[in-house]
Amino acid sequence: MIEPTILPPVEHPNAPLEHIRCVLVGTTHTGNLGSAARAMKTMGLTRLELANPRHPPDAQALAYAAGADDLLQRAGIHADLVGALAGCRLAIGTSARPRSLAWPLLEPAAAARLLLAEAALGEVALVFGRENSGLTNDELGCCHQLVQIPTDPGFSSLNLGAAVQVLAYEIRRAWREGQAEPLAPPPRELATAEAMAGFHTHLAQTLLEIGFADPNQSTQLLMRLRNLFNRARPDRVELNILRGILSAAQGRKGARRPAEAPPPAADPHPKEPHV
Ligand code: SAH
Repeated sequence: MIEPTILPPVEHPNAPLEHIRCVLVGTTHTGNLGSAARAMKTMGLTRLELANPRHPPDAQALAYAAGADDLLQRAGIHADLVGALAGCRLAIGTSARPRSLAWPLLEPAAAARLLLAEAALGEVALVFGRENSGLTNDELGCCHQLVQIPTDPGFSSLNLGAAVQVLAYEIRRAWREGQAEPLAPPPRELATAEAMAGFHTHLAQTLLEIGFADPNQSTQLLMRLRNLFNRARPDRVELNILRGILSAAQGRKGARRPAEAPPPAADPHPKEPHV
């Protein structure tokens, strides 16, 4: 364990890099904590957070940090990933292998641009997994996107410190190029405006039927929900799932069926949508 020292406040000529934290989850080898700190510091990243490390930073970590001691000393240690992500508006997970889930997968350069664009607005995180098993599905569930460093398909797993270095370099490169403008919208079939309108009418109707919303006081609630779904920008399949859930909720309550209360949208409310 490194002795805590009182350090001077960090100065940030590198805005918005200081809003980008690297989170290492369940790291086994303390040398990798040091390598990651060194990799970060060379690229101007200063925020290291450790989620449930096997051991806290020690002498071996310091040796591998090769001068990036301050990052290790400042590193927050958290019980789990959720704690390490506190306050973050965006978390991008890293993965050495393709996942079976249909996860939005970014190239390193695109991930770097997204992190920078969002770091201008608040705290963001890049999340790295365990040396032997990476991130669990639950941990990936805390991440909005996934980034994979393209490798030889037959040998895709980089050393943890090396993965931090590659992605930290991409962030620095994007930062130097001033590419912090928001990304183009992802190439997925977003729900159309009319489908969204239909969904919101269906949602409002369902909330009344199940007794969640008060007919006289639900405007604020509905507006908040609308904002929520607008931020999420669901695609067609996701919207179908939501419609299916609403239909199921209406059915369970024995509420009016869509035939009696004409549904707002043309598309049906499938109970078991095809995903
Ligand atoms: N056997 C593990 C590999 C872990 S390597 C697995 O199958 O997931 C340790 C960590 O380094 C990974 O969790 C990830 O954070 C990072 N990493 C290694 N190779 C990577 C790659 N090709 N792309 C992105 N991150 C990688």
